[in-house]
Amino acid sequence: LSTSRLDRFISTQCQISRRDVRLMLAQKRILVDGVIANNIDHIIDKFSHISLDNQVLQANQASYVMLHKPVGVVSATKDAQHKTVLDILDLPGHVDKTDLHLVGRLDLNTSGLVLLTNDSRWSEGLTSPEKKVEKLYRVTLQNKLNADYIEAFNQGMYFAYEKITTRPAKLEIISDHVAMVSLVEGRYHQIKRMFGRFQNPVVALHRVAIGSLILTAQLKVGESRLLTPQEVAGI
Ligand code: URA
Repeated sequence: LSTSRLDRFISTQCQISRRDVRLMLAQKRILVDGVIANNIDHIIDKFSHISLDNQVLQANQASYVMLHKPVGVVSATKDAQHKTVLDILDLPGHVDKTDLHLVGRLDLNTSGLVLLTNDSRWSEGLTSPEKKVEKLYRVTLQNKLNADYIEAFNQGMYFAYEKITTRPAKLEIISDHVAMVSLVEGRYHQIKRMFGRFQNPVVALHRVAIGSLILTAQLKVGESRLLTPQEVAGI
């Protein structure tokens, strides 16, 4: 993330000397994120909202996106074979797609909610297992489910390759072949591998929600939209 000192930024942006910037600061004419700035050393970045005499010099350029990922689209920014989530984003012109990164991936044959942003502090908060943000999946299985699954998912499973035990996961049986599973982490193919312990292949996997953000019927397969500030803050 490239940062700049406030006095340098304003002096370049407005073609005025840094001495004049200092004067404007003293006159309380400069606001950073809605607060009167009083320090020339103040470090700003592209997420800062800066105004002089109530004229916006730089708008906050953070972007937060939700996408209803279809099966067959890759959770990557580049791929030789398949369409990527970036390829299918349909967003307002001011959003720079190439600046965005994924907040947790879904497998090629998994559908559902994917978040993208250029704000890495926000995405780190959502993906860190310590923050315990729940990711909710609807899972369709080849074979019948039974109550043993609930206990096993709650206990956690040891993955020898990573040498980790999965965190307690909630499993709710919806019907013989359908379960809702809630995870607070996202290990490699985690859900498929957990059902693999029961020799029960996953035939369809769909992410329904991340924290309080729920994929509603309004967002059709393949569609995307910007999150509202309330959604960004509330997740
Ligand atoms: N678990 C999986 O196995 N695949 C996904 O895409 C997400 C969770």
